[in-house]
Amino acid sequence: MSADATQTAAPTVKPGRLWIGGAYVDAEGGRTFDVLNPATEEVITTCASASPADVDKAVKAAQAAFPAWAKMSPLDRQRILWNIGERLMARVDEIATAETMTNGKPIFESKFIDTPDAAKCFQYYAGWCTKITGQTIPLSTGPFLNYTRREPLGVVGAIVAWNFPLLLASWKVAPALAAGNTVVLKPAEFTPLSALLLAECAKEAGLPDGVLNVIPGKGSIAGQALVEHPGVAKIAFTGSTEVGKGILRTAANDVKKVTMELGGKSANIVFADCDVEAAVRGAATGIFYGKGEICAAGSRLLVERAIYDTVVAKLKERAEKTPVGDPMHPKTRLGAIVREGQMNRVLDYIGKGKGEGATLVAGGERQPVGGKGWFVQATVFAGVTNQMTIAREEIFGPVLAVIPFDNEEDAIAIANDSVYGLAAGLWTRDIKRGHRVAHRLEAGTVWVNAYNRYDTATPFGGYKESGFGRDMGPEALDGYLQTKSVWIDLSEDKA
Ligand code: NAD
Repeated sequence: MSADATQTAAPTVKPGRLWIGGAYVDAEGGRTFDVLNPATEEVITTCASASPADVDKAVKAAQAAFPAWAKMSPLDRQRILWNIGERLMARVDEIATAETMTNGKPIFESKFIDTPDAAKCFQYYAGWCTKITGQTIPLSTGPFLNYTRREPLGVVGAIVAWNFPLLLASWKVAPALAAGNTVVLKPAEFTPLSALLLAECAKEAGLPDGVLNVIPGKGSIAGQALVEHPGVAKIAFTGSTEVGKGILRTAANDVKKVTMELGGKSANIVFADCDVEAAVRGAATGIFYGKGEICAAGSRLLVERAIYDTVVAKLKERAEKTPVGDPMHPKTRLGAIVREGQMNRVLDYIGKGKGEGATLVAGGERQPVGGKGWFVQATVFAGVTNQMTIAREEIFGPVLAVIPFDNEEDAIAIANDSVYGLAAGLWTRDIKRGHRVAHRLEAGTVWVNAYNRYDTATPFGGYKESGFGRDMGPEALDGYLQTKSVWIDLSEDKA
């Protein structure tokens, strides 16, 4: 049942340290934490663990670098950002290996999707450096010239999750730098290595020291210290809704600016008039890609009753043809769950699905590869109602809940009956229905006859408890800029 029953010999990765002021440094007191490979359950290296004092050093380095970076000519800034993309691609093998060995995602994803998309993100925002402009505003109050300037905020604290470590970091670092801010980046503790490689690439690309600092460490210590630090102007956060709510409360103390990219429980709606084969393919990609550890995963599949049994049968077949495998094997498409605790959480939800009366039609078990690893089979539940726990809570694993519906109104009501609103999909051959339903879904992204598509040029972010603010697209820049209105008196001197 596995793509490759044995594990390929894993390459080695170097230990992680803190990256402050353009150089590696140890954490205060030499504190470190272990970095594990989810596919082998082994410690692969260690990484420095930032204390509040280390966070303070990083913020001070970013503050010191800010004036010169903010003043640098837009063309020079553009050139550096473009080059970061080039450097990321020049080191794609090393970066993808670090990503896969710490996250458990297939090397196919980290090498051919995540790293190239991160490079494209820097190159997209490189183009914006020369295009951040204010406006000249016609006033009705007298002879004034009034114009606006869009100015950087200062030091941005970026805190990201472990599911797309490099890409999520790039979605924040690239627009923040393009807008003229400096950054202190805190990667997730499970996956600190690719953020450090990004910092190395940035230095190779000509980024001045201190403009990007990386402080691996625990969320409750390093993350918390970053949020509390008075020298940080803004927190750009990607993570769980629960941690996001805590950050919002702390950020209120000094009215820090925040953007929140949080959890999801996205609905993927299959109408009976759709191309069924395409919809089933899209439904499977929507939940099994990235092991389902995707904020926008299409974890609730809403299927019109007329084709419900057909779709469930086809999904069972697809799930069974999506075996878990060694993440380093180029043919693997379903890797290891990031940690044992996360795997147990996924298995607990599978238990709840069975306990609440859903029918398990595929998967449902842990399945080690070569006797090791935190792998969970591609899992499909049928007969799910939208009130069941597996339809309400974010599982963050390869578990699909298939829910029947009767008509368009019913589908929209079920889809919107969630505290989350990150993404949604719908499958139909009726172009009018496609637009009509897309407009009524309470979600920041809607895919029609597609799922899990991303492009740096278009914004991504949540409605409702999935957050606010946007990553990517021109909108992301708004989160890293503030507007100043300048008034010039043009009246003639009376004397
Ligand atoms: P998490 O909230 O546990 O951690 C996210 C980050 O916050 C980590 O770097 C962590 O160390 C840090 N953190 C934890 N406690 C903190 C604190 N008190 N103060 C400051 N920082 C703290 O989330 P996770 O388990 O790493 O990631 C999974 C979650 O992320 C899921 O809910 C998923 O939906 C969400 N996510 C959202 C998006 C999006 O774009 N909306 C993208 C990816 C992941």
